Amino acid sequence: MSFSFENRVALVTGAASGIGLATAKAFAQAGAAVALADLDGDAANAAATALVEAGHQAIGIRCDVAQIDEVEAMVKEAVATFGRLDAAFNNAGIQNILAETADATVEDYDKVMSVNLRGVWSCMKFELEHMRRQGSGTIVNCSSLGGLIGGAERANYHAAKHGVMGLTKSAALEYAARNIRVSAVCPGLIWTPMVDQMVAAGQGAALEAMTKAVPMGRHGKSEEIADAVLWLSSCASSYVTGQSISVDGGFVMR
Ligand code: NAD
Repeated sequence: MSFSFENRVALVTGAASGIGLATAKAFAQAGAAVALADLDGDAANAAATALVEAGHQAIGIRCDVAQIDEVEAMVKEAVATFGRLDAAFNNAGIQNILAETADATVEDYDKVMSVNLRGVWSCMKFELEHMRRQGSGTIVNCSSLGGLIGGAERANYHAAKHGVMGLTKSAALEYAARNIRVSAVCPGLIWTPMVDQMVAAGQGAALEAMTKAVPMGRHGKSEEIADAVLWLSSCASSYVTGQSISVDGGFVMR
């Protein structure tokens, strides 16, 4: 799939790995100048350098989305470097520690919320502040199938991802008449380093069972999420806002 993002600037969080990296590459290949932000600054810089060496415009930024001052600085750096901000993909996220709600810890709850929910809120806050002045922009937030259904032993993660849907719809309403669109993508099981970590943590059998339950009978690829994000960020979706798209092989429709 190809959309032109020539003369556009994109910002991707969690851009050093998996879905974020694939989406940053897709934006760059579509002509955008891309700011790749990640907690792992070295990996973000390496990914940006590889894009520059391939002839694209890119910078790496170290940013912990759980730290609001770092998020403000990230948006400022992207805008200062490239002059504007057209498309943001708020993608950085972490898993919770699997535990029944009665056994989960407040530390895990706070950690997951600070990255997966408050991190998205902080990113939106500073991106929207700029886009409001600029008079245009698109934001895509990364939710999950966990933003649509429950998940045993995953309450913290699912609660945060449901919260992302609320942030998305509310901001979409606020800015609908101001040429700023806000949407969400809900990935299903996408094979990324995050899933490798889940396998390493002993969740391999559960993931295999989940893959069998996917109507398409396979897990997804990061590039398939990138395609949806680019569509939601492009003028091809110009009359779409406040929506979420499930990219999950049909998992949540059963
Ligand atoms: P990943 O672990 O491969 O990549 C996540 C990236 O986010 C990493 O580079 C990591 O360094 C970065 N990151 C983590 N915490 C951060 C922080 N505080 N600040 C900035 N960056 C941070 O994971 P992925 O599978 O590509 O996941 C990307 C997003 O997709 C996440 O929000 C995840 O919840 C969501 N998601 C993934 C799946 C899946 O099956 N892989 C399914 C549904 C939703």
